[in-house]
Amino acid sequence: MDTESASPPNAALPDTAQLAEQRWQAVVRRDVLADGEFVYAVRTTGVYCRPSCPSRAAKRENVTFYETGDLAAAAGYRPCKRCQPDAPSQQQTRSVLVRQACQAIELSASAPSLAQLAQHAGMSPYHFQRVFKAVAGLSPKAYHKALQARRVAASLQSAPSVTEALYDAGFNSAGRFYEAAPALLGMSPGSYRKGGAGEHIRHAVVPCSLGWVIVAATRKGVCAIEFDESAEALEDRIRARFPQAQFEPADAGFQRWIARVLDYIEQPRGVLDLPLDVQGTVFQRRVWQALQAIPAGETSTYSEIAARIGQPRAFRAVAHACAENAVAVAIPCHRAVRADGSLAGYRWGLARKAELLKRERKK
Ligand SMILES: [Zn+2]
Repeated sequence: MDTESASPPNAALPDTAQLAEQRWQAVVRRDVLADGEFVYAVRTTGVYCRPSCPSRAAKRENVTFYETGDLAAAAGYRPCKRCQPDAPSQQQTRSVLVRQACQAIELSASAPSLAQLAQHAGMSPYHFQRVFKAVAGLSPKAYHKALQARRVAASLQSAPSVTEALYDAGFNSAGRFYEAAPALLGMSPGSYRKGGAGEHIRHAVVPCSLGWVIVAATRKGVCAIEFDESAEALEDRIRARFPQAQFEPADAGFQRWIARVLDYIEQPRGVLDLPLDVQGTVFQRRVWQALQAIPAGETSTYSEIAARIGQPRAFRAVAHACAENAVAVAIPCHRAVRADGSLAGYRWGLARKAELLKRERKK
């Protein structure tokens, strides 16, 4: 039989074969992050599903992708009763509510209270806090702090002096600012102000199974591995972090680093052994080293890490240092969990933390 002339499975798909392959991989993974991006229809059952549908996997040759459920319905398919591809997923509803809350926090001069935010979302404060953390990866309060940090960082780069910057950012005393700055910036205000002057940074933003990932390196080593749903946001963030740096194209050596990071994200085993160039306080560096000592497939609590670095009472500061890590998986902050085994926060979203840990357990 001439297989070349068999009916092409993707006849209805206007996009490239590469996109179809990415979508198929999302279906194979039952990737909830892909829900809302497209639906897939199965010729043998006449049904279309969202990517995360829990029902039995279809054969690739029977699957056609459609941008929306309407298009699949127009082609004669019925919506799956199990995954209800046309209803907004719980994840989509939640992310809309959380995005609205983030906007409310951004627009208000002082942070709105948890009770106010929860009421607006129609949830109890307890439930809202959990949903917000699950979607945003941090609490509403931490989000407000992070915003403040971003304002500090922005004004440090534009203000003529550190003193003026701190007044711009709303700190009313130099003492308070210097106290907060290392935690907010990961380095001293003086060195941050240089904005990466004299640094040469190679970087690439590439898709992976957890969304977009940026890998960036100075000449000393990898300085950022971060995830986001938006490639543009990652691009903006690295340039905001190193506004004075010179950005260079990725060379062959750097391409190999990217490949190793991507491999490690998909199949984490052993350690991701790359030279790192991370800037942090002495305390943060000690926490990050302790994180690197946790083997793949295992987790440690914040208290255990605090004890390991000889400061058993500093578990909250340990959790903060984990949240300040800018090199995901190379410094495996996703392996730090709460004492009750719950995942707590993750700078790049709890769903990614849970998925990374799942992959490591499966070794
Ligand atoms: Zn389904």
